[in-house]
Amino acid sequence: MTGNSFWNFIKGIVRAVIRIIIEIVHRLLINLFDTLFGFLKWPEKKLRIKVFLLKTQQPDPEILATEVTDAINYTKEVFRKNFNVSVLPVRNNEPFVEILKAIPSYEALHTKGSTGALTEEFKTAGSFYAANLRAPIYPVTAFVVLSIKGATGCSLGPMTDYVTLDHSAARDNSILAHELAHACGLWHLSDQENLLWNRKNRGDKTNWWQKNIFRGSRHVTYW
Ligand SMILES: [Zn+2]
Repeated sequence: MTGNSFWNFIKGIVRAVIRIIIEIVHRLLINLFDTLFGFLKWPEKKLRIKVFLLKTQQPDPEILATEVTDAINYTKEVFRKNFNVSVLPVRNNEPFVEILKAIPSYEALHTKGSTGALTEEFKTAGSFYAANLRAPIYPVTAFVVLSIKGATGCSLGPMTDYVTLDHSAARDNSILAHELAHACGLWHLSDQENLLWNRKNRGDKTNWWQKNIFRGSRHVTYW
């Protein structure tokens, strides 16, 4: 292990521990009402997101931004209908989608899915995403990357404040909503009509206890 990779590893551990503690505090104290009664979908809550397109994208970034905007609109509709949660930008008047100014490392542009994503979180890719979050802890930042090995989108659940999407995922409306749902604590279900179905042509449905878990997330706030 070189000096750099040692520090990336330590920083990754510190990030994960902080987030897991904050998540537990929210689920069991601050959001206890939603953790128990989230199926009532009352009152309205907010999920603040940012989508960063990484530089060196293949298609025209403007076309990609339009496609991502369609995915954001789909997500707004589903989260409003299913959870009574408004999807908003981090600050009220800022755009949802922007090109990230920082130059991504190769590892951040070509990341990995599932267990690969977990190891990347403790290497240069994880450090890059953490350093370029729109804001830590509460909002979720989605990074549109060039490729994700073995997946089209990825989330490490409540452990991180970001999700990743490749170009095909940015074009498929349901993947952003699906990955954000993972970030808010939901896991895969074997029901094709559910938003948490792990394959193509998923539906947009969620059941009552998924509402409790989603609304109990630290990312889903009253402010
Ligand atoms: Zn998934």
